[in-house]
Amino acid sequence: MTTRTTDAPAARAPGHPGLTQAEAERRLARHGRNEVPPPRPTPLYRRVLAQLRDPLILVLLGAALLTILIGDYPDAVVIGLVVVVNTTVGVVQEVRADRAVAALTALSAPHARVVRDAAAHEIPAALVVPGDTLLLGEGDIVAADADLGDASALLMDESMLTGESEPVDKSAGETVSAGTVVVRGRGTATATATGPASALGRIAALMDGNGHEPTPLQRRLASLGRMLALLTITLCVLFFALGLVRGLAPSTMAVTAISLAVAAVPESLPAVVTLALALGARRMAARGALVRRLPAVETLGSVSVLATDKTGTLTEGRMVVQHLWTPSGAADVSGSGYDPRGELTRDGRPLTAEQLRPFQELLTTAALCNDAVLKPSGTGPDAWAAVGDPMEAALLAAAAKAGCPDPAELHRDCPRIAEAPFDSMRKRMTTLHHLPDGNVLVCLKGAPEAVLTASVLAEPPALLEQARERAAALAGGGFRVLAAAGTERLWQPLPVTGAERELRLLGLIAISDPPKAAAPATLSACRAAGINPVMITGDHPATARAIAERTGLVRAGETAEILTGAQLAAAPDTDLTGVRVFARTDPQQKVDIVHAWRAHGAVTAMTGDGVNDGPALRQADIGVAMGARGTEVARQAADLVLTDDELATVVTAVEEGRRVYDNIRRFLVYAMAGGAAEILVMLIGPLLGLALPLRAGQILWINLLTHGLTGVAMGAEPVSPDAMSRPPRPPRQHILAAGVWQRLLVLASAVTVVSLLAGLAARAVGLPWQSVLFLALLAAQLGVALGLRARLMTRQNLFLPASVAGSAVLAVAALHVPALRSLLDTDPVGWTGMWLAAAAGVSAFTAARLLRGAFRGKAKP
Ligand code: ADP
Ligand code: MG
Repeated sequence: MTTRTTDAPAARAPGHPGLTQAEAERRLARHGRNEVPPPRPTPLYRRVLAQLRDPLILVLLGAALLTILIGDYPDAVVIGLVVVVNTTVGVVQEVRADRAVAALTALSAPHARVVRDAAAHEIPAALVVPGDTLLLGEGDIVAADADLGDASALLMDESMLTGESEPVDKSAGETVSAGTVVVRGRGTATATATGPASALGRIAALMDGNGHEPTPLQRRLASLGRMLALLTITLCVLFFALGLVRGLAPSTMAVTAISLAVAAVPESLPAVVTLALALGARRMAARGALVRRLPAVETLGSVSVLATDKTGTLTEGRMVVQHLWTPSGAADVSGSGYDPRGELTRDGRPLTAEQLRPFQELLTTAALCNDAVLKPSGTGPDAWAAVGDPMEAALLAAAAKAGCPDPAELHRDCPRIAEAPFDSMRKRMTTLHHLPDGNVLVCLKGAPEAVLTASVLAEPPALLEQARERAAALAGGGFRVLAAAGTERLWQPLPVTGAERELRLLGLIAISDPPKAAAPATLSACRAAGINPVMITGDHPATARAIAERTGLVRAGETAEILTGAQLAAAPDTDLTGVRVFARTDPQQKVDIVHAWRAHGAVTAMTGDGVNDGPALRQADIGVAMGARGTEVARQAADLVLTDDELATVVTAVEEGRRVYDNIRRFLVYAMAGGAAEILVMLIGPLLGLALPLRAGQILWINLLTHGLTGVAMGAEPVSPDAMSRPPRPPRQHILAAGVWQRLLVLASAVTVVSLLAGLAARAVGLPWQSVLFLALLAAQLGVALGLRARLMTRQNLFLPASVAGSAVLAVAALHVPALRSLLDTDPVGWTGMWLAAAAGVSAFTAARLLRGAFRGKAKP
């Protein structure tokens, strides 16, 4: 079991010992896992039957019957072999794809925080048992039906249960249901029902059967497949009719035509696509990007806008207080990280005790209006770790530097009695504390615009104006700025927000959060790949601009590229295509921004981690959640979860997405060109005097060797060197567009011509021409397989050259192994014949290479 002790502050597990681990395990055995039982795995015989129900295979089985009736046993054996191999390959691929998807689902399963053995643990939600003490915080998804033991400003979103979109307040004694979301506040609750017995089980039972829908690409390919089948069958009927006209035996012609149809249709296409998507998802997971929905793998390849948040994504998210301002003067703060060592100085000199007092008041308020905890963690420069909001942790470190009392002591002397938690709409937070003298202390902190107003502060307008100017100047320097206010007053039973008035301004706190060293490189990698990076932040426009300039997101001094949420709301029709930075936005505006981009035809990836980001993450084509930093809601709403919280991983995932798509197109070119060539050879051959160019068994043998292993191997080809230096594929582009069908036709013609030439040459020198033609057609298709590689000599995916070599050996074996010879009705062709076939292979290979040059610059397979 993968429990880990969370760093939840002790305050979050107030006195609940919880279950013991041993008891929890007993209960787990009794009540079962807290999940809806997964659907039974499809039994093997059903998978086999599903494969056999394929219309092409049915026709092939009919052909087998026909061959037996007319006594053509060798062909019956070959057909049988084809059916067995096809079914096996199909079933194996399907099982592999299912496994890959199941493994992904397990990786992104929800987590829950529980108290066990008197300590907080984060465990997979599936392991929660009745009686467990659940810790609920902002952004958590309730893991089980539970009774609230205590609740503080707890606001729950129950829309998934009731359809009611307005969140509801919950207090101690009420119940919460599995699957509902903590919008803000926190609480502890005792689980009463888990798994199918809980609300989650009831919901899941209603939604049964979804989640296995084909991706858009799979749907499009299925319709392409149907079209191809129709075309092929028409051509084969034509072939059949022409044969009859020439007086060939109807039964031979029927079996040959059916074999031709089977060979020409790339029947492994669905399997190749599913597997390519699933394996792509697995490779992404190995590189830190968990895909939660298979369609995201293909969508990733066409992402054209990457909307990223600022704090923690473009910046390090490791905050340090650097400047303080109070109405009676300013100070600089020294020190680094969350280390509480450092001091306050003015003009380089330490402050006197007298000068220090207003700063102590400012930082004590900031430390009381605070949910974070500082923890010593090891030694060295990062000896202290932040638990909770990094910015609040930075405030604690600064308070220690100013000589304020220890937070634990503060909370003991001034216990919190009520709070209005921070939320990104209000942009401020207030707590109320009992003072030893019986009065109540009001502590408020928040964004300057949300604090420095007459409705909150009882201060002269001149002071407010002065503070606003200071705040703007600090924000322009790239600092995140907080304002703090407070007062002492008599206790009045008010809603906490009612206490947010007639306060005294204590000062401003400027916090630095340096850009990540890797951010500029990541952003320029995006641009090189034709992906437009934009920043969306709740922070002040000046702070946002400073970070945007330092990461190279905007050029210094440009004005038109920054838009605030308010400007956006005032002019909703603004053209957003030139905007690089959206500042002071709230989560709802993120949704509007995604809408606007999508209306422009952009494919948007958007990062988010907060509880309110869910709708935007769902709206975006690719919602990206941070695995470590993000809330459970964000993770479960996302299509992509970054296990390393690094933006660069999104770029990696895009690269994998492009690779998958390229490989599917490569397979299509290869398989369809080969199939078309087989039909063309059979139709044109007779016109050149090659009466029946190939026998049914030979056609099927070619099909086995080309579509089998070699085709599957193409799905694992490495990424093209230029995959990330070309623009994204337009989302609605047809799978055969951008040069694919032209290439396909050229290659089909090339393979046809070289195979027929080899056959004619063989006939001219008196060799068994049918066997030479058979060998040449195979060699030419294998030549195309190699020629289509993006990197010819790469050591990656040795499976492809190996399967080409294996196919070549089996092709030669067909002419020399006696059993195969009688089965396929072939003859040895001697060295001359071999050379002819090899020449065909090399020519087709060369054609494929030359075509790469001809289509360079286009998105190519
Ligand atoms: P972002 O995460 O995009 O930087 P937020 O919505 O989290 O933006 O924060 C917006 C503003 O709200 C910040 O610039 C800051 O001034 C203020 N703020 C953020 N966190 C807190 C908090 N815990 N308490 C009070 N104010 C906060
Ligand atoms: Mg934030």
